[in-house]
Formats: sequence, structure tokens, C-alpha cells
Amino acid sequence: MVHFDSAIHSIFIDGEWRSAVSNQTEPVYNPATLKTITEVAYGGQKETNEAVQAAKRAFADWSRLSPRKRSNILYKASEYMLEDVDRLGTILTMEQGKPLKEAKGEVKGAAGFLRWYAEEANRVYGEWIPSSNTRNRLLVIPQPVGVVGAITPWNFPASMITRKIGPALAAGCTVILKPAPETPLSAIEIIKIMEKAGMPKGVVNLVTGNAEEIGQEFLSNKDVRMITFTGSTAVGKYLMRESAEHVKKVSLELGGHAPIIVFDDADLDVAAELTLGSKFRNSGQTCICANRVYVQRSIWEPFQQKLIEKIKELQPGNGLEDGTTMGPLINQQAVEKVKDHYDDATSKGAEVLYTGKTQKDDLQGYFYPPTVLGNVNDDMKVMNEETFGPIIPIQPFDEEETAINWANDTDYGLAAYIFTEGYRRSVRVSEQLDYGIVGINEVFPARAEAPFGGVKQSGIGKEGGHYGIEEFVEHKYIASSV
Ligand code: ADP
Repeated sequence: MVHFDSAIHSIFIDGEWRSAVSNQTEPVYNPATLKTITEVAYGGQKETNEAVQAAKRAFADWSRLSPRKRSNILYKASEYMLEDVDRLGTILTMEQGKPLKEAKGEVKGAAGFLRWYAEEANRVYGEWIPSSNTRNRLLVIPQPVGVVGAITPWNFPASMITRKIGPALAAGCTVILKPAPETPLSAIEIIKIMEKAGMPKGVVNLVTGNAEEIGQEFLSNKDVRMITFTGSTAVGKYLMRESAEHVKKVSLELGGHAPIIVFDDADLDVAAELTLGSKFRNSGQTCICANRVYVQRSIWEPFQQKLIEKIKELQPGNGLEDGTTMGPLINQQAVEKVKDHYDDATSKGAEVLYTGKTQKDDLQGYFYPPTVLGNVNDDMKVMNEETFGPIIPIQPFDEEETAINWANDTDYGLAAYIFTEGYRRSVRVSEQLDYGIVGINEVFPARAEAPFGGVKQSGIGKEGGHYGIEEFVEHKYIASSV
């Protein structure tokens, strides 16, 4: 455990930590125990407006600093994060619930984004375009977009932040971060690390509090030139719609409904192990989690058995305790949603193939048992909407084409996975899946060096890799005569 005072200053504007103007606070809970960890400031429009002004002032110098200098600060921040993995992982588990091992893995990944973008800061290139006449010289120069409003979710309280602010800061933008109300503590730690690494005041700011007010200020304030968001499709659509007023740039990582297709030529042990990993990591609360599994009929029985055998080994519990492999859900609403999907499916004829242990008796938190459903169909919510919890529906198919059609029959398009040992099939099917990310015998595709992002209603833009920094850059065309 890490000890926190009963209330902490969580708003960081122009290099100063402070409380909300109203002095209002809101509690942060541990979802495994329901105990309050601390209270954080409940800011809103006023604080956000001040933060935008600070970020605007800071932009002038930060954007003109040499990329090498920006890089050095980000690099230092990534090193500080790595040195503090145990403490940061513990804080992440306390506020989010995931097992400590997963939390430490996330912190390392989060530091990885800072390191990658410390490197990328030095490689944002422009272009010299050969002119069609001898008189002109045509240049394209990359410039940072400006002040960025970043809104992040609770499922990855550390890596979703560095994946956004890493490239934004590397490109020369300045930032106001609004973390999820459920998980502000990891955000505070990341900003403290930035401060310690020597980030000039105003370059990165943090406002916790009223999501609607903070979001509204991001949208209505002309000085915010870009909104980068990870969260639900509904809120993403709202931000996109409202960004039209001032024609702001948007980068959106939204929901998903990932299919897994297991073909009859798959390595079934690998397929079962990774299906479990994809579905139950973070208790099913990731946007790229498997939501539905299609299994070729000839391997239906053995795959099902192997999967259930593995699921039986899951140990739900308090993420801080040794041996826990699955934590709680984030809140009561999340539990209600999973229950609703379960009730909906079973009332429409789904068969419960397995349901596991919920939690140890003494825990009061938001737990839900790992569950496998068979005999599912497209009328069920679980096959169409993000469940964001540990229920896995599985369905047999006969032909490759059928599985592809089913997989694509959704408004989402974030990640899809296939299991096959056939090279030709893997390429053929990957090409036909309408998704931004395809995993072939792989379900953990997120990497600092690779582009993560969806198509259709799963989002716009990429995070990670050299693509990630491009989002925060405008290419200015300079035409000159000599
Ligand atoms: P979830 O339901 O998984 O929490 P949300 O999309 O509601 O997903 O939340 C993702 C992030 O968006 C959180 O930081 C949340 O506070 C924020 N958010 C929610 N509603 C708004 C809004 N109207 N304006 C700005 N941010 C919002």
C-alpha cells in the first residue's frame, strides 16, 4: 500500500499544485475494497480556462525549443518512471484494481511511450519539393498544432496518458490533461515526474474534476487547437460534433467489439491461452478485449474444453495480493452493465458453459465471475455492444467467409484476432477484416513503436509509432521565389 493524505492537491496549472477554486473535492476509491484512498480537487471551467491560458503562454517557448531539449526532458521522465515502477504500480492497482503484475507492466509500457517519443522528437521531418519551374523553392515544414486538451480513461490510467502527452510534448505542443475521475492518482504521479524532469511551467497542466465543464472549456475555447480523447464512442462523437464549431483537430480512440476467429488449423493451446489473455486481462475492461469468439466447428469441443480449463485457473481478488490474476471491475455501473448483458443473453437462450469464482469472501468490491456463454446469437447485446467485463461468448462457424462476415458485421473497427498456422489464410483474412488492428496468433498488439487506432466508429487517428506524433503536427507549406 502507498499512503495518501486524506485530501491532496491535484490541479496543476502553470507549475503550481493547487485545490479547486470552490475548494470542492471528490473521493477516489479502491474498487477491490471500496475504501476511500484520498480526496482530489474537483475543478471545472475556471481552472481549465486558466490552464489553457498557461498552456498558450508556454507554447511560445516550448514549441521553439530544440527538439533535442524537449527529448531530454521526456527521456528523463521515462527514466524516473522506470525507477519508481513498484510504487507507481501499487498506486495504479489501488485506484484501478488490476493485479499488481499487470499494473507494473502498464507503468513500464507508459515509460516506454515517453522514451519512444523522446526519440521521435528528433525525427519530425519536413520536405523539399522540386518545383515545376526554376523560379520557385517549395518547402514543407512540420510545426506543432498548439494547445492540446487530452482526455483519458480509467482502464489504463498511466499508459493512456503517456501515449497522448508523450507525442504531443515531443512535437512541441503544450497540454492540459483531464484524467478519468476514477483514476486521477496515476495522472498526478506522471505530472509530478514531468515536473521533476524539468518540464517548464505551463507546458503540461492537469485539471481533475467536472468532466462536462472541463470538456466544455476544451471545446469552446478557441485557444485549444486539438482534442485527443480515449473513451466511449458516445462521448467521442459528442466531442467530434462540438469540435466542428472551431474546426479543432481531433484524435479519438473509442470503443471496440473485437472478434477472435479460431480456425481449425490453429495451435489450440496458444489460441485458448491467448483468448483467455485477451478477454480477462484487466477483467475484460480494455477496448481491444475479445468480445466474441468464433470457433471453426471441427475444433469446437476441444477448444471449448481447453479454454474453460484455463479460465478455471483464474484467481479473482484484490490486485495487491499475491496470486490474484483478475481484479474487480471499476465501479457498480460496470457490474450492472455486465449483469445486464448476461441476463439479456441467457433470457434469449444463451447457455452458460462456465461461471467461475467471484472473489474471496471478505472483499466488498466490484467483482464479477469469469463466465463463458455458448449458443449465442446476433440478437444478444453481448454480441453487439461492448461488455467491458469478464463474459466471453463463443459461437461455432463452418466457412472462413462466414466468420469474416460475422466479424465485420459491427459499427466498430478497432481490433480483430485470428488464430491459424496457415500463412496464406492469415494474410488473406487479415486483409478482409475491417479493423485498424489485426492480431495473428497475437492478442497484445499495443506497442510504443506501432500505430494503434480504429476505423469506423472506433475512432480517428493513430497513437504510437511515428504515426502517433504526426497527429500533433501541422505541415506548413512555404512557397518562395528566388
Ligand atoms: P467510460 O464510460 O468508460 O468511463 P467515458 O467516455 O465516459 O467512458 O470516459 C472517458 C473519459 O471521458 C473520462 O475521463 C471521462 O471523465 C471523460 N468524459 C466523460 N464525459 C465527458 C464530457 N461530456 N466531456 C469531456 N469529457 C468527458
